[in-house]
Amino acid sequence: MNQPCRRAAISGRALLFASLVAVASCGHPDRRPVALVVTGGIVVTMDPERRVLWPGAVAIDGRDIVAVGTPEAIAGRFSAAEVIDASGALVLPGLVNTHTHAPMVMYRGLADDLALMDWLQKYIFPAEAKTVSPEMVRVGTRLAALEMIQSGTTTFADMYYFEDEIARATKAAGLRAVLGQSIIGFPVADAKTPADGLARAEAFIRAFAGDDLITPAPAPHSPYTVDEPTLRAVRVLAARYHAPILIHLAETEDEVAIVRERHAMTPAGWLDSIGLLGPNVLAAHGVWLTDADVAILKRTGASVSHNPESNMKLASGAAPVPKYLKAGVPVGLGTDGAASNNDLDMFEAMRQAALLHKHASRDPQAVPAIAALEMATILGARALGLDKAIGSIEAGKRADVIVVAMDGARQTPMYNPISHLVYVARGDDVRTTVVNGKVLMRDRRMRTLDERVVLADARSLAAKVRDAVAVTR
Ligand SMILES: [Zn+2]
Repeated sequence: MNQPCRRAAISGRALLFASLVAVASCGHPDRRPVALVVTGGIVVTMDPERRVLWPGAVAIDGRDIVAVGTPEAIAGRFSAAEVIDASGALVLPGLVNTHTHAPMVMYRGLADDLALMDWLQKYIFPAEAKTVSPEMVRVGTRLAALEMIQSGTTTFADMYYFEDEIARATKAAGLRAVLGQSIIGFPVADAKTPADGLARAEAFIRAFAGDDLITPAPAPHSPYTVDEPTLRAVRVLAARYHAPILIHLAETEDEVAIVRERHAMTPAGWLDSIGLLGPNVLAAHGVWLTDADVAILKRTGASVSHNPESNMKLASGAAPVPKYLKAGVPVGLGTDGAASNNDLDMFEAMRQAALLHKHASRDPQAVPAIAALEMATILGARALGLDKAIGSIEAGKRADVIVVAMDGARQTPMYNPISHLVYVARGDDVRTTVVNGKVLMRDRRMRTLDERVVLADARSLAAKVRDAVAVTR
């Protein structure tokens, strides 16, 4: 028995199944040895044909998916060092969260039931002024990474401070991310001026250029908190390093009023007039966009991150997502920071996106289940410019794969896997999470993070946040 066969035979929960595979594999030495096979589940590929293999199997080696097929076909071609039995579960591409502020999990539930400008200016900005530090960002990112791995998110887009710390914590957890170093028009924890923020963004981009998991980016906060010279400098910086740009856009009617007063244009119109918008730009929210603004996004190739839960909770409004989808503007889904959501569960984001637009338009066909799932996978990947690498289960793509249990009372019976993923599943149903070919969680057991340490560190840091906010109030 060779080494891969022996390892397969002792692998955990699927002992009997793995042993059978191992025995079968050992009898056929011509089979290609691979690191991992996920087999026996229903594979929702999200490939161009949106194939669902019922059942299916995925062979993974190194960081890549090497084959997708029936369990028999995959077992016939590959012998795996580790076999994951996904019977009774769905196997799908890892979820893509296109907008969050990972360390803000430390402000989860700190101030609720407020409009955005009050929430931001009276609570969040003052709390951040007193508590954001490299330590807070590290502890918060580890907590966010734990929550994301446990709920099936494998890639996230982030906008925050000390983004280099976020990058290191993200890599250590094993997650993939597009990380935006914030640039904002007032003094913040990691930059006294926008020029400091720009310099920090450039150093960050240089430090993580070409990284396998991290795509570094500048993240000017929004059209109402960053001035024109700074936005022009951001455009030059992003072009120099072929980096994406992450920015908030037209989140509230107040923002539209501020920008109209200053520039006599809509926020999207103004950004376009200074040449900021392009295919490398991901605009978060896009709630208050006119038809002409949607046409601007289409013409420039910019993408949108839709954050239904945050938009509803802050009473910001319902983004014109059906119009984006009809126009062919790439739309991803986001949770936004946990301070305004209050969690990072992308299954909830899918469900709320599907429900919000039916409710807002009184059209039950608005954002059907498959459209919500597309936004959370392949379309979100496209919005981040990563769709050649992730967003679907296809040979040659990076192995970002999750296994979602479907054998409980809540999921029984199951006629349509897509329907269940959007209207029934929760983050807690995720059993196993694989990113870049590496198993980060198997059967709810973490492999890259020590859950008890992550939670204990977060609780102890929360005491400092509580004290700082008590003084602020
Ligand atoms: Zn945001």
